[in-house]
Amino acid sequence: MKKEFKAEAKKVMQLMINSIYTNREIFLRELISNASDALDKRYYEDMKSSKEVNKDDYYIEIIRDKENKTLTIKDTGIGMDEQELTENLGTIATSGTEKFRKSMDKSDISELIGQFGVGFYSAFMVADKVEVLSKKNDKAYLWTSENAENYEITEADKNEIGTEITLFLKDNEEDENYDRFLEEYTIESLVNKYSNYIRYPIYMLVTKSRKKDPDDENSEYEDYQEKEVLNSKEPIWKRPKSKLKEEDYINFYKDQHFGFDEPLSYMHLNLEGLVEFKAILYIPGKAPFDYGSKTYQKGLALYSNGVKIMDKCEDIIDDSFSFVKGVVDSEDISLNISRETLQKNRQLRFISKQINSKIRSHLLDMLKNDREKYDKFYEEFQTPLKVSLYESYGAKKDELIDLLQFDSKDKNRKITLKEYVENLLETEDKIYYAAGDSIEKIKNSPALSSFEDKDVLFLTDKLDEFLFRMLRDYEGKEFKSITELENDENEENQKDEIFEKMKEVLPDEVVEVRKSDKLKDNPVVLLHRGEVSIEMEKTFKNQPNAPELKAQKVLEINENSKAYDMLKDSFENDKDRFEEITKTLFDQAKIIEGLEIENPTEYVKNIWKLIK
Ligand code: ADP
Ligand code: MG
Repeated sequence: MKKEFKAEAKKVMQLMINSIYTNREIFLRELISNASDALDKRYYEDMKSSKEVNKDDYYIEIIRDKENKTLTIKDTGIGMDEQELTENLGTIATSGTEKFRKSMDKSDISELIGQFGVGFYSAFMVADKVEVLSKKNDKAYLWTSENAENYEITEADKNEIGTEITLFLKDNEEDENYDRFLEEYTIESLVNKYSNYIRYPIYMLVTKSRKKDPDDENSEYEDYQEKEVLNSKEPIWKRPKSKLKEEDYINFYKDQHFGFDEPLSYMHLNLEGLVEFKAILYIPGKAPFDYGSKTYQKGLALYSNGVKIMDKCEDIIDDSFSFVKGVVDSEDISLNISRETLQKNRQLRFISKQINSKIRSHLLDMLKNDREKYDKFYEEFQTPLKVSLYESYGAKKDELIDLLQFDSKDKNRKITLKEYVENLLETEDKIYYAAGDSIEKIKNSPALSSFEDKDVLFLTDKLDEFLFRMLRDYEGKEFKSITELENDENEENQKDEIFEKMKEVLPDEVVEVRKSDKLKDNPVVLLHRGEVSIEMEKTFKNQPNAPELKAQKVLEINENSKAYDMLKDSFENDKDRFEEITKTLFDQAKIIEGLEIENPTEYVKNIWKLIK
């Protein structure tokens, strides 16, 4: 019976098959990578059971059939039963056709395939019919699909456990010669390019030449065929760094689908001592499409002396570095380690500590020696650093705080807290900051005008101010918002009768009204006292279930402004006008801060009343 693909799967396939950006040859890498995964799974199962394991039984073979124009990729991996054939090849695991389509506009399709778990379908870029013959337990099944329109599963015969995927290659077209995928040379070079480090042998019959009579010096030569292993098999992480080029690391990153783009940076670790391990770690160039959502899973691939135990071992990587991708291999980790014991495993805890500390020093090194690169990293991955710092209630301050950077008023770029503090005089004991939606908005803030001679950090990420509030200080220098009033900054103002009266007009809205001589050409500014700033009040207001949090607002009036003259004037002659001016000034201060005003209609009317 013919079955329909899930609608979503169908859409992605059509997008992929018809993509003009397509680099068709990557289908081979995808199928080999799936075969390798299947071998990993079987090998791991076999090693765990007390079965006798013969390494030669685990392999991949590529079979070229020029006559029938088919290419077969065979593996002796775990295989699929009927249900798995339907589930794995009939649907798309990571749902997200829409996201796939959007990303496709920007990227090369080969970079998207692994991210969306659609590698298998790339077979249809070169074949108009695909057969998957697979055996997992005692029964074998044949899955067939033409042009990825629908598919059929029937019972079939197959002796060995494993999978054989046969591609019926498309007829040659103007812009693509599909026949080339039947050539020895093409396959050899594709395996070399994309799949060299697959840890199982990839066999293929290749043509060789030999003397017809080995003992005769003048013998003629003849061609003969022999199975040969095409790949080097040695896992890349076991090779000495000196033998590896940047390109090798980049290819491995792509092979493993660690990220969309090229990695921003990588580390190759080889630690010897009490617990030995090797690791290759990457910082992706771009955050994965689901980074920060629930579907994203952090973790490194974990190997025990070349046997894959797990795709994503979470316990190895701290949340602060959840963006790091890569592999760890250690002979000191037992194959039989299970999920629950992982956390309790001493070796693993040791490895994890080393790895996290290496990542940290790698980043600090980048910060110091390649700031441009660090800025790129920071742009993508600052959030997990901040969230970890925040959620640990500051316990990770020493570990993480020097990785943070913030926009500086004076430097016009991001600086670290260390850099801020280095520029302070010994007598200066505060790190000033201003929070707001954007640098532009903060730059226009009236409160900034009294900070001409001091550097101010511009916090544009909602988290920043909460973080500063929690951390309180850096190296003994206190974080201080430029809109927060000190407790001793109120005395001289208190006596002024005008301000007392203004406060009476705004009894619940403000805790205080006062004057200022530092506001330049701004008539008003809204400051606050205490822990909660106006920006924090706004953030809380926008959060669905957050409690209501109000800043204790202080309205400051510029004593050198026309507004102040008008206030003084009306205070003596016209109580109604005085109230209108007060309310209008308060509304204006709120507008400047990006706060909603209670009654816009009244505000507008008042303004027209005042323009007389
Ligand atoms: P991904 O590899 O990202 O999961 P693919 O589209 O490449 O996505 O493969 C889909 C699924 O089909 C795999 O996750 C696996 O379960 C199954 N599969 C594909 N090829 C094989 C194979 N050769 N042997 C066993 N299972 C396979
Ligand atoms: Mg795959």
